[in-house]
Amino acid sequence: MQLKCNFLPQDDGRCGWYEMLPPPPPSKPLKGDIKADWVVLGAGLSGLAAARRLAELQPNASIAVVDARRVGFGASGRNSGFMVDLPHDLTKHDYTGDQSADLAQIRLNRAAIDYVRGIVKTHGIECDWREQGKLHGAVEPRGERALEGFAKGLSALGEPYSVLDARQMKAVTGTDFYRAGVHAPGCVLVQPAALVRGLGATLPENVRVYEDTAVREIVVGKPHKLVTDQGRITTPRLILANNAYAAQFDKLGLKGLMLPIYTYGSLTRQLTPDELARLGGEESWGLIPADPMGTTVRRIAGGRICIRNSFTYNPDVSAGSSRLERVRESHRRSYERRFPMLSGIEFEYTWGGALCLSRNGGAPFGEIAPGVFSAVGCNGLGLTRGTIGGKLIAEYALGSKSELLDILLQQPKPVANPPEPLLGIGVRSTLMWKEWQAGVEL
Ligand SMILES: Cc1cc2nc3c(=O)[nH]c(=O)nc-3n(C[C@H](O)[C@H](O)[C@H](O)COP(=O)(O)OP(=O)(O)OC[C@H]3O[C@@H](n4cnc5c(N)ncnc54)[C@H](O)[C@@H]3O)c2cc1C
Repeated sequence: MQLKCNFLPQDDGRCGWYEMLPPPPPSKPLKGDIKADWVVLGAGLSGLAAARRLAELQPNASIAVVDARRVGFGASGRNSGFMVDLPHDLTKHDYTGDQSADLAQIRLNRAAIDYVRGIVKTHGIECDWREQGKLHGAVEPRGERALEGFAKGLSALGEPYSVLDARQMKAVTGTDFYRAGVHAPGCVLVQPAALVRGLGATLPENVRVYEDTAVREIVVGKPHKLVTDQGRITTPRLILANNAYAAQFDKLGLKGLMLPIYTYGSLTRQLTPDELARLGGEESWGLIPADPMGTTVRRIAGGRICIRNSFTYNPDVSAGSSRLERVRESHRRSYERRFPMLSGIEFEYTWGGALCLSRNGGAPFGEIAPGVFSAVGCNGLGLTRGTIGGKLIAEYALGSKSELLDILLQQPKPVANPPEPLLGIGVRSTLMWKEWQAGVEL
């Protein structure tokens, strides 16, 4: 079976989290033909967790991780940096659902946080790791009702939280834009690009990372062959951790299951001490909107504000500059509504990144062809779901058994998408409708 990689990760150079880091050491692209016991396609959170876990369990195996770009450049370094422990279904208005499924998801998410925390501590990875939880903020009565539902859901799960009124929300965020909030303490906030780069730089010795190495074609067989611009890798076992780019693999059935959806972030320039004093509030916080289609906001230590909103359906897994300009305008409006005391502060960066969603939140976890394992489909929650999916796919591929693996295997599989053009029309109109419904939460 031959898989063509027609859609490749683009070099947009616009992600603030990545651009704020010092330049990485030169990359070592693949040159020539090699063999490896395992190949992991994609050096995001999912791929790095898979490679690390394989190496931990098989210290003598040769493991190659291949990425078209630098580590930290993909969606894993482009997100808002919320390591979410609680259920967080982007399609559900109150973020919670079936209670036993929620409890199972919490176990998986917390296992991911524990795993990453251990690595961050052991290796001293500097990624602004903050165990400070997340705020959920409501702007209008509909949002308040959603937060009440969310709080009820948390009570039923036995999860701690605290409720904040408008005054308390202002004391944290500096803005009086939010009428009400809920603080959930288990979320960790990070600088995502710094975290991913740190995870990539501290892999065990039997893992080789080939950056700037786009895979153009995969021949699935015995063994598999991955063809790159300057070389070829032969391997008996391949782990796919290429996020939404996997949705082009029709022959593996992934095209009919996964949805390449983009979302976008902007980061202001560094605020001056005078501007920070005008803003007030706490030095670092992260806020999730009451409506999943609303605006996520972070204030990061050092004094910048990060805005995230807008979802678009991008089957070619890229976002051109005109779309980024439109999104920037939307970010500007959301920013101005929240921070009138800092009106006109420029965004230094605006970027997009791919999510790999399915219509029911399921992931095609497992062996999807002989010797081909899937760790794609973390449904917009890469920091925890991607990490644990990557770690557990390695265990699964090695035949390990564990309660966490059972939980993951019991989760729903993705439901099939309708064919194009119905799919595109349906997804685009649903996104527009939901965004309109989000109203001022956006
Ligand atoms: C703006 C934004 C905000 C977000 N906020 C959050 C958040 O706060 N919390 C959260 O948990 N999640 C968030 N997400 C989602 C999260 O970033 C993703 O779910 C996660 O990064 C997916 O991780 P991954 O490892 O599966 O994929 P990726 O990080 O995308 O890694 C896949 C890798 O595969 C590589 N690749 C693809 N095709 C090829 C090829 N042919 N050859 C070689 N390499 C290839 C890519 O270069 C890429 O590095 C956000 C996403 C965005 C865009």
